[in-house]
Amino acid sequence: MIHEITVKTGRQTEFVRLTERVQELIEEQGFDSGRCLVFVPHTTAGITINEGADPDVVHDMLKELNKIVPFEDGYLHAEGNSAAHIKASMMGSSITVLVENGRLVLGTWQAIFFCEFDGPRTRKVFARLD
Ligand code: ZN
Repeated sequence: MIHEITVKTGRQTEFVRLTERVQELIEEQGFDSGRCLVFVPHTTAGITINEGADPDVVHDMLKELNKIVPFEDGYLHAEGNSAAHIKASMMGSSITVLVENGRLVLGTWQAIFFCEFDGPRTRKVFARLD
């Protein structure tokens, strides 16, 4: 069964913490142990795991991603959002996290982040517990 999580983003580029939403899903489903796959079905958004303790880390990541891939750079794609497509592929479209005794198994400083690169929008995230 595929579960859907709705994510509303408020900026053009933004990292939205998803850890608690995914943990809630695991608890709602009474899922005990196995794997949690989280997949982003969008071409201008991605997902990643990185430091969640200090919000400056994702701030810096976003700043550097926006520097490496400028919003305008003579791109051919007529829709005008090539930078978002490129950054989405850099972050990737899925993650897998182990689940043990009903808890996501993440490192002390790790958090799951939805990566918006062409917002603000209402986005979907799919999750499967196996
Ligand atoms: Zn496009």
